[in-house]
Amino acid sequence: MIHLDGINKTYHNGAPLHVLKGIDLDIDKGEMVSIMGASGSGKSTLLNILGILDTYDTGKYMLNNQLIQNLSETRAAELRNQMIGFIFQSFNLISFKNAMENVALPLYYQGMKRKKRNALAMEYLDMVGLRDWADHMPNEMSGGQKQRVAIARALIAKPQIILADEPTGALDSHTTLEVMELLRNVNQEGMTMIIVTHEQSVADVTKKIIRLRDGQIESIENGKGHV
Ligand code: ADP
Ligand code: MG
Repeated sequence: MIHLDGINKTYHNGAPLHVLKGIDLDIDKGEMVSIMGASGSGKSTLLNILGILDTYDTGKYMLNNQLIQNLSETRAAELRNQMIGFIFQSFNLISFKNAMENVALPLYYQGMKRKKRNALAMEYLDMVGLRDWADHMPNEMSGGQKQRVAIARALIAKPQIILADEPTGALDSHTTLEVMELLRNVNQEGMTMIIVTHEQSVADVTKKIIRLRDGQIESIENGKGHV
């Protein structure tokens, strides 16, 4: 599903910074993979390229047999909306919308009618165990609840891949494992999932652990594949 061939990326804000140095990587449909590495090793840069949020300089990125290169911003956004669900460390919920409206947001952008999108949002809230929290605002929810809302929002447009950048970075260790259990269950239903983390306990839940060091893949190991 994902094929990276010799990906290089240099930032040019000030002195050039060569952040990704020839990344080769294949990820199959249905895999659950983590990306580990020290701060600054290029994890977020790599995830942003995979998510078509950022571009690369040289190499080749194929997503579902489509070459991801020189896309217009419109085309990039179209592919993102069709194929990719994002989960962030800071949840990125809209503070003045309740849980149901936050989950329904991607469907609003697709032009779906309010009644239908809210009904679907309730199904997804139910799936993450938050049906009773539908009319609560983000500031009335715990970190773990907010991240479950964000997971429901990422899933509702039926993406082919979930990309998560430090999804448990703001959660305590107990809530971290609850969120990872949920993500693992979603993966077991067939969703491809790539999770950036610096926590070994999070990486262990995935089946494949990719270690980055100074912009290169240092190793690829097997994880336990369960909490
Ligand atoms: P990680 O997620 O592993 O901590 P990043 O991919 O965020 O690493 O960053 C890798 C390096 O690139 C860091 O040194 C960071 O400061 C730098 N960097 C990240 N984004 C930018 C940017 N937009 N412009 C310039 N430098 C950046
Ligand atoms: Mg990062």
